[in-house]
Amino acid sequence: MYNPRELAEKVEKEVCSNNSRKYYRFRSTNFYGGCATADCLGCNLRCVYCWAQKKVWNPKRIGRFYSPAEVCQKLLNFKQPLIRISGGEPTLCKNHLLLVIESLPKNALFILETNGILLDENYVKLMSNYDNLYVRVSLKGVDERSFEKITGAEGKYFANQLKALELLNKYKIEHRAAILVDLFNKEDIQKLNLPNLEYESLIKYPFVKNALKDRNII
Ligand code: SF4
Repeated sequence: MYNPRELAEKVEKEVCSNNSRKYYRFRSTNFYGGCATADCLGCNLRCVYCWAQKKVWNPKRIGRFYSPAEVCQKLLNFKQPLIRISGGEPTLCKNHLLLVIESLPKNALFILETNGILLDENYVKLMSNYDNLYVRVSLKGVDERSFEKITGAEGKYFANQLKALELLNKYKIEHRAAILVDLFNKEDIQKLNLPNLEYESLIKYPFVKNALKDRNII
């Protein structure tokens, strides 16, 4: 098992450089009804079903560094109403992320898809300065045990995900939590007692199915 905060520090050395960050792709997608997407490299978790793991967990071999201004320009070129950073975990390289949001025109809504582990109070407070921000926290379990099984990380860090939601609430940042319904039973999900919880479905690539079987998850 690993500590996802320590892993974050290690990965940041590979994917963050001054205010720049490493990305491997920019694309226009149909998510949320039309969303320009930058796929970043690096993550502080190792989820068993991670569809992007080959790239995201091996940031040394691919991609290149982009400044916040370059990222914004590339995303705005797609002329989509919504903008997001996907692929890996956007809250690695914290300054870079804030500078990207700050550089966007006020009418461009930025959707932050995050596992929430690195969202501490200071950072959430800074994020609350931006009106064009919507945060979606992807829960990796319904309790410590399931979080450990899914991510391979120490179970106590599940609390960080819930804490992130509390902080977003406290600082009145628009947000919601999302969970993969295929992996947990309904009763356990309901016990979380989270309003506006979004149900996602797992894309069951063959490698995902095998990995879930190996960890006795399905
Ligand atoms: S948090 Fe997302 S990017 Fe990171 S390992 Fe899990 S699924 Fe992959």
